[in-house]
Amino acid sequence: MQIINPATEAVITEIAEDTVDSIKEKYALVKAGQPLWAATPLESRIEKLRKFSGLLEAEKDELARTLTNEVGKPVQQSRNELNGARKRIEFFLENSAKWLADEWVVEDDATREKITYEALGVIGNISAWNYPYLVGVNVFVPALIGGNAVLYKPSEYATLTGLHIQRLLYKAGIPENVFQVVTGKGPAGQALLDLPLNGYFFTGSYRTGRYIAEQTASKLVPVQLELGGKDPLYVMDDVEDIDAVAGAALEGVVYNAGQSCCAVERIYVQEKIYDRFVNAFAVQAKQLKTGNPLEAGMDMGPLSRKEQIAFLQEQVADAVAKGGKLLAGGKAGDGKGYYFEPTVVADVNHDMKLMTEESFGPVIGIQKVKDDAEAVALMKDTPYGLTAAVYSKSFERAEQVMKDMNTGTVYWNCCDRVSAGLPWSGRKNSGLGATLSYQGIRAFVQPKAYHLRG
Ligand code: NAD
Repeated sequence: MQIINPATEAVITEIAEDTVDSIKEKYALVKAGQPLWAATPLESRIEKLRKFSGLLEAEKDELARTLTNEVGKPVQQSRNELNGARKRIEFFLENSAKWLADEWVVEDDATREKITYEALGVIGNISAWNYPYLVGVNVFVPALIGGNAVLYKPSEYATLTGLHIQRLLYKAGIPENVFQVVTGKGPAGQALLDLPLNGYFFTGSYRTGRYIAEQTASKLVPVQLELGGKDPLYVMDDVEDIDAVAGAALEGVVYNAGQSCCAVERIYVQEKIYDRFVNAFAVQAKQLKTGNPLEAGMDMGPLSRKEQIAFLQEQVADAVAKGGKLLAGGKAGDGKGYYFEPTVVADVNHDMKLMTEESFGPVIGIQKVKDDAEAVALMKDTPYGLTAAVYSKSFERAEQVMKDMNTGTVYWNCCDRVSAGLPWSGRKNSGLGATLSYQGIRAFVQPKAYHLRG
């Protein structure tokens, strides 16, 4: 399997893909190792992950460069991702003991009752490339703390990062028979689906996620899916600083070249401030710096995958053909690398793919709305349900909209953010189950009810 640098199109290296047989061997290895790992004291498992977090910090520069070379994000964003991953690990280190402790429900009756939390066993983590550290630690850190063994399949676009993660986990003292990376593309993921694992935790597209849910349904094991979105942002006419709101929304659109599950994917603006907002947004979009992601000061690098260029071009062409006004960008770069300009299309509507299909790129449609009711109806007009953002001076008005959203996350005067203490969950086509928060600790264990007499 070739690892390509999306900024230069050069082959970085070649990696041997796992085969069905090598994946079976890895499974046998971790299946044998898991009971011993689950039997080690919780504090000792936590300590090893604390060490892992320290190693991420110690090697941050090299890890950030590797990540930038394989996925193309500006190197400062790679460092931010590592810092963010350490914050999440910190949350799990601090909170796991509390949420995994035995719970006495009845202590003084003739029959005493308690709940204990046991590991699921061997879990499969099939992961995405856009934030390999962040979406990875959401799963393998609480899974390991909970006493599980993990078969971790990084995306084929983030394989080198996956191998770094494995190396550092081993260095931190996680045994080889508890954590194994599985390298490869779809067929390697399929081989995991064909094994009798005790849980599947997937981050990626709706299409693959639904396929995984179908394939694993008859196993009757936990299956969690963190999928895509078409996340709306609504700007009410009472916002005080239109430039600042436009800047915040733009960052939500273009951070990581728009390749975030919770990127702002469509914007609605109330008619009174529509023209001023659109103008401020387009002016700032044109000022963004796109280029070599290893250079300091870049807002955007290339896209991670070549196919995405044609996909975005098609979305923009469709919007323009149906009356959208192209105010910035719209084209791929002309040299080497999978670059795409930050692209703004105004006067759009829901007949356009730009407003209904996940873009996963630095492109945005902005639509005028007359009032909150129209905005809410449009925001809800989607098969996805990951996040929704409202910008307004009034919490009461914003709260009304937030309550109406059928999404796992809502934002008031912010967007495109994830917090370790809050559950991260998608509704409808955006997923099933939650990671992070206490729910993301409990997701990797199963309760056992004890009825005790005597
Ligand atoms: P993808 O679905 O193409 O791939 C995800 C993983 O599935 C990869 O490891 C891939 O090799 C594997 N895979 C592919 N075919 C498979 C099969 N048949 N069986 C088993 N595994 C298979 O997604 P992607 O392009 O890596 O990620 C982008 C998508 O992920 C976007 O839709 C984005 O919104 C979503 N995402 C969601 C979250 C979230 O938290 N909700 C976070 C990050 C990304």
